[in-house]
Amino acid sequence: MPNGPVVASEAQTDEFNPFSSMEKLFNRAADVLDLDEGLRSLLRTPERELTVALPVRMDDGTIRVFTGYRVQHNFLRGPCKGGIRFAPDVNIDEVRALAAWMTWKCSIVDIPFGGGKGGVICDPRELSIGELERITRRYTAAIIDILGPDRDVPAPDMNTNEQTMAWIMDTYSMHVRRTTTAVVTGKPISLGGSRGRHEATGRGVMLVCREAMKKLGRRPEATTVVVQGSGNVGGIGALLLHREGYKIVSLSDMYGTLHNDQGLDVPAALDHLRANKTLEGFGEGDHMPNGEQLELECDVLVPAATENQITSENADRIKASLIIEGANGPCTAAAQDILVDRGVVVVPDILANAGGVTVSYFEWVQDRWGYFWTEDVVNSRLEQIMVKAFSDVDGVAESHGVSMRVAAYTLAIERVVNVYRMRGLFA
Ligand code: GLU
Repeated sequence: MPNGPVVASEAQTDEFNPFSSMEKLFNRAADVLDLDEGLRSLLRTPERELTVALPVRMDDGTIRVFTGYRVQHNFLRGPCKGGIRFAPDVNIDEVRALAAWMTWKCSIVDIPFGGGKGGVICDPRELSIGELERITRRYTAAIIDILGPDRDVPAPDMNTNEQTMAWIMDTYSMHVRRTTTAVVTGKPISLGGSRGRHEATGRGVMLVCREAMKKLGRRPEATTVVVQGSGNVGGIGALLLHREGYKIVSLSDMYGTLHNDQGLDVPAALDHLRANKTLEGFGEGDHMPNGEQLELECDVLVPAATENQITSENADRIKASLIIEGANGPCTAAAQDILVDRGVVVVPDILANAGGVTVSYFEWVQDRWGYFWTEDVVNSRLEQIMVKAFSDVDGVAESHGVSMRVAAYTLAIERVVNVYRMRGLFA
């Protein structure tokens, strides 16, 4: 553990460091709450950070050593909760920021978890299924001392999925000598996963969009939407928004952007993506490079890919008047200021994409209970939580006269502070 408060590492102390963006927004909310420096430092600093070296035998017989991280930002409200991502550019500041966002996210939807996040530096596109399995199992074994249903409960994130969670569950269970399904969420349904978990983040995006639209007095039928990404969040979010009657005019994947002013046939585009692993070649619309997608003409923009997409460089060219952040950290703190000045309403990530962790909580409850709910029960409980979270954040925004993002941080931090005040400081 560091001696002083953690600050973003020097390599990245700029607009594009997600941990410094998180700190800036945290400080604004801490000002609203008038928190003293001691509390600020306690709440900003990750409680535990683990870096592990993962020697893995590759298919060609050589050994490669991968680096993995698990950061537990805060466990005042309960076990740490948060995904694991596999990506070539994962770094400690990113994982720290993502872990802190999980703390705030769990607090906003008021589920009994703190925040954690993990990452392994690797490029899944270059790895065979066997290599991915060995990396996952070795990573799980390396961080096993800090995992457990009452300690830290991982879940999928970028480039990890139900299969990855099944390997984690199995590796953990083999070590503790009993099947322990509640150690991870986002598992296959046949291994203790929850119905509705796969769609939950996209469903949450659709639900907060619906609440924001009600507040702004707009109708889906008269609304065009651009969705950046077409994976678990963007693809499912787009599909559910399409079913609600919105006109989805653009979707993208890592190779390019699909655009059609008349509205896309989203189910057909996603079928094409499933069959071809790319949107390229889908017949109905223009294909263009990814750079321009965020600046397309539209009413609602859903960035659902990755961090740092809307920055001080492009924020004033964004046409949408409502942004629903499906990804974690898609707007930098500097972009946030420009958007707010321009009157753009931003429903922040820690609210907009909290549907995933909410159903992860349902999965953890079902695993511990040994009793599984129908999809309707899951979806209606998710809806209740998301609608309440939106209205709680909106209430704070109105009462303090701040943006929804500062309001979301304020509400989240206040709930954690209240628990801290009751628990007190150990020793
Ligand atoms: N990775 C997802 C997120 O960023 C889900 C986390 C979870 O379900 O624990 O919210």
